[in-house]
Amino acid sequence: MDRNFTFTDGSQIPVGTMYCIGRNYSAHAREMGAQVPESPIVFIKPPAAYIPSESTITIPSISKNMHHEVELVVIIGKDCSTTISASTALEYVAGYAVGIDLTLRDVQSVAKERGEPWATSKSFSGSAPISTAVKAKEHLNPNNLTLVLSVNDEVRQNGSTNMMERTVEELIEYVSSIFSLRRGDCIFTGTPEGVGRLVSGDRVTAELQDAPKLKIYIS
Ligand code: MG
Repeated sequence: MDRNFTFTDGSQIPVGTMYCIGRNYSAHAREMGAQVPESPIVFIKPPAAYIPSESTITIPSISKNMHHEVELVVIIGKDCSTTISASTALEYVAGYAVGIDLTLRDVQSVAKERGEPWATSKSFSGSAPISTAVKAKEHLNPNNLTLVLSVNDEVRQNGSTNMMERTVEELIEYVSSIFSLRRGDCIFTGTPEGVGRLVSGDRVTAELQDAPKLKIYIS
């Protein structure tokens, strides 16, 4: 399968490393029985985790409780070899999409108890469905976009990126201070409250203001 971010004008960028931010919305941190951390929580999904809209995903057999987390995805358009400051961060953004950080909540809970990494619960094949992307433009403020996720036409998550604890610019500054962000990498910016279980047969729709809808099917 080709793993490319596709933009509404038809242009493409190969999918790189996906950097994912945990607990960037206080209401979601609370629903997980946690707090917003002092430094961002970062975990990684590999390119093989990417699937485009209209994909069908099978819940991995190691889990009985796969959750949806709808998120703004920021696609990086230029290599960033040195630390980027928040004030120039948006110059490195190619565009924005809506993604679902699919999470095996039961597997993650065991990992948290044991102090083990989240790779199996967060980074499995197909764990990163991402929509067609819209190009970044000067007037497009990524920190004030609505995010909605529906399961079988019932709204489960309804928030806005204006509820993020750290802005897109701050997240790019932080991630680039530790990792070498490259063209085609992306940042999952965290999820608003309302995460929940997906079961076989579910139709999932995720919407980010101004971006094409993301649809996936659970088999
Ligand atoms: Mg998440």
